Amino acid sequence: MDLKQDLALLFELQGYDIKVSDINKQISFASSLIEQKNITLEDKKTKLNEEKKKYMDLVLLKKEKEFLLADSEKTIAKYFMDLNTIKSNDAYKALLLKIEKVKIDKNIIEDELLTFMEKVDEVSAKIKSAESEFKKFEENIRKEIIDIKNSTNKFKGESIALENKREELKLRVNKFVLSHYERLKGGRGGRGIAIVNGESCDCCGMTLRIQLVIQVLKCQELVFCDNCSRILFKSNAL
Ligand SMILES: [Zn+2]
Repeated sequence: MDLKQDLALLFELQGYDIKVSDINKQISFASSLIEQKNITLEDKKTKLNEEKKKYMDLVLLKKEKEFLLADSEKTIAKYFMDLNTIKSNDAYKALLLKIEKVKIDKNIIEDELLTFMEKVDEVSAKIKSAESEFKKFEENIRKEIIDIKNSTNKFKGESIALENKREELKLRVNKFVLSHYERLKGGRGGRGIAIVNGESCDCCGMTLRIQLVIQVLKCQELVFCDNCSRILFKSNAL
């Protein structure tokens, strides 16, 4: 068994693992970004619908006033017709009073109706502008989401290609060495093998005992960092 070669392959394998992990992080970030954008869109839509509901309530109130106005006009017309058929003077005067009362009510309804009409026009203009603003916002968000999905698909393709290369490489690494690496990389930021840089472990930065550095250079057995427990490796090429 050529340990040096195995460790070199393992280090290469770790390179793929790091790249795959980075890409997967980007994919997961993209997916949360899409989720966030959809939530923002839904929030805006809900607010717009609430405004539309208020507008419809206002339109209904306006219609109610229009109905009341038409009703009072009908009542007044009917009372005027009735005046022609009344014989008694007192009944005639009483009906005139009733007409006056309905007229006063009618004026109040007319004023209220006018206020509602103005309000309906005002809110209608606001809704139209909010709707066109929402449409633009929605178009932009949809475009952004499509862009994110496209790049996510690209990332997924890259990730699969890297995984395949990793699997090929894995077959060439000694199983015993590989099992140590697989066990160590969990909980260590996906890094199970560290380079000896001068006299330090390049992953945790700890200065290594000179004896350990010599063992690493000899490369006759697996050597682990005293601090982070990663497999230590020093290549002639590095
Ligand atoms: Zn270390």
